[in-house]
Amino acid sequence: MIVGVLLFQAVAFAVLSGIVANKKSRDPVGWGLVGLVFGLFGFVAALVVEEVESEEKQSSPRRKHSSAPQEFDPDEHEKKCPDCAEYIKLEARVCKHCGHEFSDEEVEQQVAQARQEFRAKREERGEEEMETASLKENMAVLGIIALIAGGLALLVLFTGGG
Ligand SMILES: [Zn+2]
Repeated sequence: MIVGVLLFQAVAFAVLSGIVANKKSRDPVGWGLVGLVFGLFGFVAALVVEEVESEEKQSSPRRKHSSAPQEFDPDEHEKKCPDCAEYIKLEARVCKHCGHEFSDEEVEQQVAQARQEFRAKREERGEEEMETASLKENMAVLGIIALIAGGLALLVLFTGGG
């Protein structure tokens, strides 16, 4: 029975250590094991350990900056001339190929529409990022659940046998 209580404590501290480590962007499974082995001391270690400045978190926005500009730049967008079907700059008032003229309102409208599409695409990308982030959290939770399940299995094994 005492073994069972000790095991239960170990599992409890393993779970607590895992949760604390996860909040600090540290490996919840590894710290869960530390909590499992060292009990209260492992949990305290997980509490006092410095928060990890995850490399991924720091570098991924920078990578995004270089590959895709965050702000809308009309120079990087084009429109199709309705007369000659050539692509010209989004802000052009006169087609450089055929001389077709666009009114001020037309140009403004085209720029506004392109900006809207640009923002919609950017939001889509943002949602994708959030999905991968929550996936990581799910993996962490799964790790903790696996630890609990393993601990409980041991508990049942020991208390059932003795
Ligand atoms: Zn044209």
